[in-house]
Amino acid sequence: MSDVFSLDGQITIVTGASRGIGLEIAKAMRTAGAHIVVADIDAEVGPKSAAELGGDFVHTDVTDSASVKALVARVMAQHGRIDVLVNNAGVVRNTPSEAVPDEEWRWVLSVNLDGVFWCCREVGKVMLERGRGSIVNIASMSGVISNHPQPQSAYNVSKAGVIMLTKSLAGEWASRGVRVNAISPGYIATPMTKKGLDTPEWREAWLSTTPMGRLGEPAEIGPLAVFLASDASSFMTGSNVLIDGGYTAW
Ligand code: NAP
Repeated sequence: MSDVFSLDGQITIVTGASRGIGLEIAKAMRTAGAHIVVADIDAEVGPKSAAELGGDFVHTDVTDSASVKALVARVMAQHGRIDVLVNNAGVVRNTPSEAVPDEEWRWVLSVNLDGVFWCCREVGKVMLERGRGSIVNIASMSGVISNHPQPQSAYNVSKAGVIMLTKSLAGEWASRGVRVNAISPGYIATPMTKKGLDTPEWREAWLSTTPMGRLGEPAEIGPLAVFLASDASSFMTGSNVLIDGGYTAW
């Protein structure tokens, strides 16, 4: 059997890969043979992460469609194709809904949903032209359930949007060689969840409502991302895979 999990030589863009889940996905894909392009707004850590991965860094703000177009133009000029896109960049704010300022609502939606769409649209164009490609969107269990005790309505809505965007694009592009799937993690120990872990009430709620009784590690997401990006999942498109220590089973 050929190695269906191989990403050998595949040109792979991972947004928000400077740190956290994105970095671990990039490492797993690198191990599977991919050439990684780190597309991140963090111009300080991003280049270091890219160097660690033996890949490229392209300073990118996913909320800005011109920045996303420039990213795609640069990768195409350098490599001539894009095989895999991982939309991982994301942000959260925990403001009670009645107090969320307009700008905060728009910013969260802008990074988490608009950003995913701009990247899918621009990378999708070059994948469709070539008739092949695999897109993995990092959604969240928050797109399926509403978290508690912390308030985060904008985040939850944005992730529900990512799951439906994944299904919409999958349906449109399946017959043209481009697959689109989503990963929905539960609580993972990264800078994003640090505030929650440092808040005893949140930490206790998170751990007691997760059957496995712990947070996931970012490295535990990488193998699933490799599976969805590679030919190992050749009959999957439009799927949303929960990986949450059992959280949504209870
Ligand atoms: P993280 O540690 O905060 O990393 C997110 C990365 O995205 C950072 O490097 C950040 O850069 C970058 N980024 C933010 N805004 C950006 C923009 N406009 N353009 C480009 N890059 C941008 O977060 P994480 O926990 O690894 O989360 C990664 C993804 O998994 C997110 O989509 C998140 O919603 C999702 N997720 C996380 C969890 C969890 O429990 N951690 C659970 C479910 C889903 P800066 O540091 O400069 O902002």
